[in-house]
Amino acid sequence: MSEVLSGCCRLHRTPLSSCAPAVPQSPDNRPLAIDAHSHVFNGTDLQVQQFIKLDSSLPYDEELKKIFGEIVEGLSWNLAPTGCQEYKVLGELASCGRTGARAALMSRHREQAYAHACREINSTPIFQQYKTGTAASRRLTGHMATDKRTQYLDSIGALLEAPTLADFRTKRALLAQNRALDVNLQDVHSVLRFLLQGFQYRYISVQDYLDDYNPAGFTGRSVDLMIANLVDFDWPLAGGAATRTPFRDQISVMERLSVFTRGRVHAFVPFDPMRQVAIAAGISPRNGKYSHLTFEDIQAAVMSHGFLGVKVYPVMGFQPTGNAALSPKTWAQPWLPEWMSKPIVIGGVARSFGEWLDAKLEALYSWAAQNGVPITSHVSLSNGPTLEFNAFALNNAWLQVLKQHPDLRLNLGHAGDPTGNLSSSSAAPSLPPAAKTVIYDYICAPGSAQRYTYGDVSYPAGALTNPAAYAPLLEALFLTRPQDGRAVPQDRLMYGTDWLMLLMEKNVDGCLSIAENALSAVDAALPPQTPSFSDRFFAFNAIRWLGLRPGESSWNRLETFYRTNGIDTNADPPAWMTKVRHLTQGITL
Ligand SMILES: [Zn+2]
Repeated sequence: MSEVLSGCCRLHRTPLSSCAPAVPQSPDNRPLAIDAHSHVFNGTDLQVQQFIKLDSSLPYDEELKKIFGEIVEGLSWNLAPTGCQEYKVLGELASCGRTGARAALMSRHREQAYAHACREINSTPIFQQYKTGTAASRRLTGHMATDKRTQYLDSIGALLEAPTLADFRTKRALLAQNRALDVNLQDVHSVLRFLLQGFQYRYISVQDYLDDYNPAGFTGRSVDLMIANLVDFDWPLAGGAATRTPFRDQISVMERLSVFTRGRVHAFVPFDPMRQVAIAAGISPRNGKYSHLTFEDIQAAVMSHGFLGVKVYPVMGFQPTGNAALSPKTWAQPWLPEWMSKPIVIGGVARSFGEWLDAKLEALYSWAAQNGVPITSHVSLSNGPTLEFNAFALNNAWLQVLKQHPDLRLNLGHAGDPTGNLSSSSAAPSLPPAAKTVIYDYICAPGSAQRYTYGDVSYPAGALTNPAAYAPLLEALFLTRPQDGRAVPQDRLMYGTDWLMLLMEKNVDGCLSIAENALSAVDAALPPQTPSFSDRFFAFNAIRWLGLRPGESSWNRLETFYRTNGIDTNADPPAWMTKVRHLTQGITL
């Protein structure tokens, strides 16, 4: 029997004191940047183990990938703060205390999460075994191991002995100077950074993000609005069993985070059609706890809890539409429950799983189009459990959806990964075939000039590896001339990071400045435009996709949300609102 988790935050709902925020406000003298695609979840919010284990596209050498997999496999994330715990903590932080006391509390939370992460990683089977060996004496005598696996484990083990985060950073710098090692230490650091972040409070992750991209003294764009995507993999990866933080708590804590940061973070709520079919058919998972997330919950999150839009993840096992035509065998997979490959009865009618998936998705599109609710879909050949499912990201089903719902505000997330070919050696940058298809055939399809189809260039691993090739790649894209009702890429591509997933890559801290430099180079190289290529990429395209101009659907919803939560949008509005008002005055988008 399964037990329904209804969300503990709902039992303790209290308004957040209006003397928030603790997260620093963005400076008003720097140009607006919207991060159209990021994540601030921790290890209690998703099935990290299944997600990472099944992902084949990680960038490390095989040995490190294996170690990473084994660590993730052994982690329970029991010590990471749940949504419920964080909800209460945000309440404490926001109550009017002295700034010093609040800063001390934040730093205590950060250190505590670090200590918990080290403790959990050290107690995974792989590290328990490793410790029983000769590691300690090897380190004492300074004799390095000769095999790669042990070198990796020694590097990670040494770092995890640092008692505080400051010591961890010092150790990391020292280790980086050790040139005698055969293994890639940068990759070791990336793995650890990703794992450690997964133990943090979500609000600390927002702070860490801002420290990475808007550090003190930085003069570039300030990220005034982060779109944080939640994901729902309960049915696609875990037979329907809930994550430790059930969705109703994830929604409550993200709502509170939006208030706490005074509108610097707004989330997207996940829509999984598999879950919606299960709910309608009255199917609950065989084992484990079950998380509530009805379509009504999803609608309410957007309409009144500060969520900006909806995230869908087709590579987890469904097409945006046209599932009815797929063989039921598509869902006869060892990691999926059996009921998905059999006829399902809802309201006395038996249909295939694919038919029901289409019906649930159709309900989402109708509602979203009617209410101007933006949608982001994962559109890159990655992260699905199989290559067959990955291909669901890249068929032309979205064009079919747009035929039915031309007003849909749709972001094809990752845009097919346009920087995918920018290896460190490529001098003449080229678009990968997938990005060509997504950008030219879907986002800028005939008729798209009148539509709201966009693509975020998030997880730009190629640009991080070869920053110099990013500007030429964008220039080539932006030389496209408008024709037969098509949109042009400069009006459709948006800045995004995919932070904290991006932490697994190299050079992550450069993501914003690399993009700014590339766009500035494009502005200088191509005939001038108003707004500039930079302003389109970092702000205008996202404003248009999201419906964030004064009077538009999302603007209105957020304005009401702020007022309900004690934020005066006239006297002291969130920075993004002031900048959007200023930017869009007198400009037709
Ligand atoms: Zn993402």
